[in-house]
Amino acid sequence: MSAVVYRGVDDLRVETVPVPRIASGDILVRVAACGVCPTDIKKIHYGTVPPPRIFGHETAGTIVKVGAKVRGFRLGDRVGLHHHVPCLKCHFCRHRAFAQCETYKRTGITAGFEPSGGGYAEYVRVLPFCLPGVVKIPAKNSFLEGALLEPVNTVLKAVKMMPLLAGDTVLVVGQGPIGLMFTRLLKLAGMNVIATDLLPNRLVLAKKFGAWRTANAASPTLVEELKKLTRGRGVDAAVIAVPSDAALKQAQEALRGGGTTLLFAHTVRGKETPLDLAKVCVDEKVLIGSYSSDFTLQREVARLVFTRKFDVRPLITHTFPLEETAAAVALAAKPTPESLKVIVTQPA
Ligand SMILES: [Zn+2]
Ligand SMILES: [Zn+2]
Repeated sequence: MSAVVYRGVDDLRVETVPVPRIASGDILVRVAACGVCPTDIKKIHYGTVPPPRIFGHETAGTIVKVGAKVRGFRLGDRVGLHHHVPCLKCHFCRHRAFAQCETYKRTGITAGFEPSGGGYAEYVRVLPFCLPGVVKIPAKNSFLEGALLEPVNTVLKAVKMMPLLAGDTVLVVGQGPIGLMFTRLLKLAGMNVIATDLLPNRLVLAKKFGAWRTANAASPTLVEELKKLTRGRGVDAAVIAVPSDAALKQAQEALRGGGTTLLFAHTVRGKETPLDLAKVCVDEKVLIGSYSSDFTLQREVARLVFTRKFDVRPLITHTFPLEETAAAVALAAKPTPESLKVIVTQPA
């Protein structure tokens, strides 16, 4: 089969590799769609994990082989996959810190080499511990929608980590695909969203996704504007969906006492930034982070996406065939004003 193999920093090659063999507890899925995710881009660009690997973890496709011991899945089922599934039993899981669970940290979906998602290949093997993360896609929904379950899950998880009351005002910094997901899900949760971005067309989109107000992130008076919108009190929470330390500082300024700032895009280790810690200690401004998905939200996410209460289709602006995965990754790494979610697709 064809697969896009990571051979080193910024080096993705289309190669012919064996179709994965499955064991009696596995399923084999023919990939139809796989989203390009910033965490994969980071690994490809910074070389944080050793090659060779086949990346791609926002995967949807059709089941083409079912291991003899597998129950609940049939040939031809159209499914969305989750490459990380927690054990639900360990110390971390009992604290709902699923992303820190050892089982969760193992990637259970592979197209060959060290399991790394495998979605940039024609077929992926799903190991037994990832089967609970396989979600069936209703007939009326597309593989593209199925491929967005995982990123929507990561955002819903983060929304639920913030202590919010209906009617609260939440700042969402950055209106790329992830920021727009925050805007939409916070709106659905009853919040007043103030969306910021540098690009005017993204602010227009943010309105369509339910933002209450929008503002240009580069405005020199942004903090004052945010204060004014909250009658001087400050926003209840802020989501930093771009890896900007300046945005974090600004958000800390605009936050009310006791409010929460959530980091979602600061994923590169070793970067330090000065912070006024009295804002945390005296003003009780809480600083939290969220990473990856929450397995227990899977049903809720599937319902939101598949009923189109959260219609994710407008988020998908570009699709590329498998052979052009490198171009897809390049576009997602350096988005244009018009580009949002980029997906690698294959004939179903
Ligand atoms: Zn992802
Ligand atoms: Zn666990």
